[in-house]
Amino acid sequence: MLNRRNFLKTGITTGAAALPLVSKLDALDPVTFTAQEARADEKGTTGILVPLPDRLPPVDPATEPWQKRVRRVGQTNMTEHDPAVMNIEEWADYWHAMKVDVVYVSVTGILAFYPSKVPFHKHGKYLNGRDFFGECAAAAKKRGMRVVARMSPDLNWPDALAAHPEWAMRHKDGSPQLSTEDPRLFKTCMFSTYMDDYVPAIIHEVNSLYDVDCFYTNGWPPLGNLPECYCAICSKLPAPATPAYWRVFTERVLALWKRYDGIAKEKKADSFFFANSGGNVRGGPNLDQLGKIIEWFQADNQGRTYEDPAIWGCSSQGRVCNAVLDGKFAANVTAAYSTGNPGWRNASKAPDEIRMWFNETLASGMAPYCHFVGAEDGFGEDRRWQKVGLDYFNWTARHDAHWATRRSVANLGVVIGQSTQLLYPGPATMRTRTYMHETTQGIYDALLRGRFAFDYVHEDRLEPERLKKYRALLLPNVAMLSDRQCDQLRDFVRSGGSLVASFETSLYDEDLKPRPNFGLADLMGVSKAGDAVGTNGNPYYARIEKEGSGEPHEILRGFVDTNWIPGAQNRVPLKPINNPVLTVVPGFVRYPPELAYPPVPHTDEPAVVLRDDGASRTAWLAGDVERTYWITGHGDLLRLLHNTIRWALHDEQVVSVDGPGFIEMFCWETEPGYALHLLNYSNANAFHGWEQSVEPLGPQKVSMQLPAGVRVKQVELLRAEQTVPFRIDGQELRFTIPAVADYEVAAVTLA
Ligand SMILES: [Zn+2]
Repeated sequence: MLNRRNFLKTGITTGAAALPLVSKLDALDPVTFTAQEARADEKGTTGILVPLPDRLPPVDPATEPWQKRVRRVGQTNMTEHDPAVMNIEEWADYWHAMKVDVVYVSVTGILAFYPSKVPFHKHGKYLNGRDFFGECAAAAKKRGMRVVARMSPDLNWPDALAAHPEWAMRHKDGSPQLSTEDPRLFKTCMFSTYMDDYVPAIIHEVNSLYDVDCFYTNGWPPLGNLPECYCAICSKLPAPATPAYWRVFTERVLALWKRYDGIAKEKKADSFFFANSGGNVRGGPNLDQLGKIIEWFQADNQGRTYEDPAIWGCSSQGRVCNAVLDGKFAANVTAAYSTGNPGWRNASKAPDEIRMWFNETLASGMAPYCHFVGAEDGFGEDRRWQKVGLDYFNWTARHDAHWATRRSVANLGVVIGQSTQLLYPGPATMRTRTYMHETTQGIYDALLRGRFAFDYVHEDRLEPERLKKYRALLLPNVAMLSDRQCDQLRDFVRSGGSLVASFETSLYDEDLKPRPNFGLADLMGVSKAGDAVGTNGNPYYARIEKEGSGEPHEILRGFVDTNWIPGAQNRVPLKPINNPVLTVVPGFVRYPPELAYPPVPHTDEPAVVLRDDGASRTAWLAGDVERTYWITGHGDLLRLLHNTIRWALHDEQVVSVDGPGFIEMFCWETEPGYALHLLNYSNANAFHGWEQSVEPLGPQKVSMQLPAGVRVKQVELLRAEQTVPFRIDGQELRFTIPAVADYEVAAVTLA
């Protein structure tokens, strides 16, 4: 019997093109298509494989900047004490044995590590006139490693404050803002002449004295939040934490960045300046604008914290980089020391956790970067991390060709909404700074569990040429969207793309000014009927409405023996539509149980609004389903998200990975061919603490549809360091990864 499920499987094995299959499905007898049959496996591995895009033309390495070929980065973050205790030869030998291409050496700005003559660049207490920076830089150069001159412009000492009171960040009462850990240090204001005069003076001095390859500032600009300063200059700026402030903040960051970059290039054309970056989806400065000028993205994302405990923090950062860099270089700083709060700067982290952060760095397309603070006792009181790094980096060096990623092949984009992440305070029902973080974690978790290949997309990068690779875009409560961005999303849908949006998406413009109706109302077929409704007791339910045939809609497959499913914690009420698939049963009392029943059991308020014009499909979720999934873990919400996203994608996928376990996957076009990265998160510590052990996964069956004319030479598992047999049917490549410990990379080399 031909039903939808085995029909799809037939489609896969013959490698037929996707779209004709979808249209043929319409001819199938609907009676044979039941929810249970549609998908045997909730991981969604029975979708329709679509061919990978045609390969990009080869790149001549000689045309690429030197940092594009950097594969490993090392840093001993130098302390004031190090000139007295660090064994420079041992330090240089270690990083050389790690096969790092670049080391960071501290110049600083808080304490000079060389005999600086710049006023207020205070010499460290153990420097004693020695040129510690110069000796370290020379030891690195002697071993063929490049040198990053590392500065810290964010703090300075009382003598500088006395001479330059205008350099300080100020509280509302006018008092200087001080370091919370060492109150002798004051915080410097990035709008003051400290950044115009003092920092350039140090860059000039270092450039005149030493052979360095580039300049870096730590501690500035701030990550994931915006400064709040009431000095004479800042008092004249727009109010802190507003969209207008964010714009002047970004302008100032970019202006200083370009100026410092110009100074770096005065000596060597291929030198450059870069600064502390990261902050994940929040970022700091506008990441679209930063991405256009940056030459090295320093993802200062060193490890998990109590506030951000999910294991994929590094991968998520890599996705951000991929969204804004157009293939330029990024390195993610992995702390080999103990991150968290409290954290220990001079004690090693659990080896499995260090390795997983390196794994995520590589999987998400960044260069691994090993970092430890202080060299006490020659090269560390605690040296346990050193072998972990040494083994790992030497393993990566055996497979360098496969880390040269060209582009992600994902067909699903998640609009991250950086402005919403930074500036939106949450809905009126729930003002909390963590709101968007929880929303993003919810969609991220759901996408991993569905084994979707996805990218992040920045809201300022919605041009058609960037979006054309995506079958569908997700807008998980992207509250702030400009009129222009809404127009770009309209164009995307008009050209056949699908959209899934939720809750307050497009309810605010780029200035956080509320709109009377959603900016995407016309496109998505929704209309706001009232302000956000929260939960006091039992949240709302979503009642399953039968379509004309009596069969529930495709987004409801798998929901059997129930007339309703959970709604979400918050929703924006919508005006009624024709033939809704889910309607709202308003929330009611949770306690006492005597009153825990719906006084209004049925309404015409839609909980979901769907549109389907054949090619393009749109789905609007009235509730904050992604975030509610994250905070409850409710499987019905997960299923609804999976079904809706698959429906929007027309069930199309670019790579299928079928097997047990909770994994994250990345699939890249690489210089030699393709690389499929699988990160094994099936672990008791995936959501808290550190990885303490590895729980290996069984076989993972992989299939992907290669572009026409592409031939495969071999498939190699880089962690296992063995080749595996593969099959080609038509252009469909299939192979099995027998096991995944913490991480595996299936590297496909083309003939
Ligand atoms: Zn200020």
